[in-house]
Amino acid sequence: MTDNSHMEFIFPPTIRGMKVKDETALFPIGKIYCVGKNYAAHAKEMGSEVDKKEPFFFSKPPQALTQLKEIPYPTKTNNLHHEVELVVFLHKGGTNILQEQVKDLIFGYAVGVDLTKRDLQNEFKDAGKPWDLSKGFDYSGPISEIIRREKLLGDETITLKVNDELRQSSNISLMEWDVPSLISILSQQVTLKPGDVIFTGTPEGVGPIVKGDSIFAEISNIGSLDFIIV
Ligand code: MG
Repeated sequence: MTDNSHMEFIFPPTIRGMKVKDETALFPIGKIYCVGKNYAAHAKEMGSEVDKKEPFFFSKPPQALTQLKEIPYPTKTNNLHHEVELVVFLHKGGTNILQEQVKDLIFGYAVGVDLTKRDLQNEFKDAGKPWDLSKGFDYSGPISEIIRREKLLGDETITLKVNDELRQSSNISLMEWDVPSLISILSQQVTLKPGDVIFTGTPEGVGPIVKGDSIFAEISNIGSLDFIIV
């Protein structure tokens, strides 16, 4: 256990901080969990189906999150995909959180893109290997400014355009597992902490992006995110 009264580090710890709309203090990023196959139409386009029994989660490291407007095209891929997602930020944590308690944990939301090296992910899947590095590379989680919104959302639209062409268009009410269920179920397996982040899955229409592409993603009542791939 760490004795907080004698907190001293060999070197300063690295803490990722993300911009919150209209505020000067940054949001400190903790653990990042992502949900797979949470919209039926996306699961179908991936040749699969949603997990009705229990959602599955994977992680990105905190270093994946970025609010840069220029995202470098990553190494080790020729098939980088966009996945627009609602991202939830927690300012309280706990274990075994009940669904009706979840609204008290929510600090706010952002529009995010779960950038994915689809070719590498498929290669790892086929080989029966973990596919962490196809999802958890540097700059793999561009997000908008965080909007402080301490309540649950309803039926917001979620869209993504590449070079002004609409690629993804859906509604967050179509999530198989909604935000209270996701957080409640996740908290049965890990202790959630203030600063933790959840990417809630992408709707259908994922596809490749290349250097020079301009991405614009939007969730109604939350905001928008834009960046270019360089
Ligand atoms: Mg995703």
